[in-house]
Amino acid sequence: MSFSKVQGQRRATKILEGFLAAERIPSALVFSGLEGVGKTLMAREFAKALLCEEKKAPAEPCGDCGDCAAVDKGLHPDVQVADAAYQAGLVEGEAAKQRLLQADTLRHLRRDMELQSMLGRWKTAIVCEAHTLTEPAANVLLKSLEEPPPRTVWILVTAQKDRLPKTVLSRCFPVAFSPLARSAVEALLAQRGIADASRLSALSEGSVSRALELAQMPEPSGSAGPLAPLEAADALPRELHLARTQVELALFALAQGLRAKHLRGALSFGLIERPLKELARLRQALRSNADPRTVLLLAGLQTEGL
Ligand SMILES: [Zn+2]
Repeated sequence: MSFSKVQGQRRATKILEGFLAAERIPSALVFSGLEGVGKTLMAREFAKALLCEEKKAPAEPCGDCGDCAAVDKGLHPDVQVADAAYQAGLVEGEAAKQRLLQADTLRHLRRDMELQSMLGRWKTAIVCEAHTLTEPAANVLLKSLEEPPPRTVWILVTAQKDRLPKTVLSRCFPVAFSPLARSAVEALLAQRGIADASRLSALSEGSVSRALELAQMPEPSGSAGPLAPLEAADALPRELHLARTQVELALFALAQGLRAKHLRGALSFGLIERPLKELARLRQALRSNADPRTVLLLAGLQTEGL
């Protein structure tokens, strides 16, 4: 495709090219893998391949026609991207506050998918951060997946596939994305003119978005004091799924903070190596349903004094 735009995902590319070449498109797909490895970009390329009438091969949208250009700009009427900004537009709220995708958002998306496309062409719905669907929202989605209108495709994009309901997952064809090779991250950063691409890529765990975030992180503030983890744990929301999301973010922020200090020369790699491993282990435990409060306390202990 101009799937070649998506780097380092040969296996996912092969699967999707196969569907397009055989003209057998599943009505639902789930793109899973770490943040910042090209999942959403690939979803847009796939939508372009379904719509482009100037393509040279089944999986090679031209990239220049009206359809391709409209998808790239996020303006194509037959390609909807449901993310925080989309929901914010519906509720007239701030994008940053849309932490969970709500049932009304999915209802809106479903209605749109059910409307016959003007020219009877493919309609694609891309649901970003699909693990943030509330339970009622997942049920709305499930109804669509059970009776998909013809020539519609749903693409669920998630870095936490395990948190999606099994009923939803069982109706989606799984497409797994791998972490990127260090050299691929470095090349993508260099393309964007980011300084220090080599060191950032080494700390990115194969994710371009993590590396970019690291490059933009402000100077970390000093240690927050020995009681900070306890206070943070006490302040967690009671709803388990909200607490889990918040702790997930906190673990990521702690790890990024350590990496940023290392990049600025404040901590040697020897000092951050073990805490980073422990934080990764805790992230895994959290995903296997460990108690968020305990995880946060343990994370605080790991990074104490650093
Ligand atoms: Zn085109």
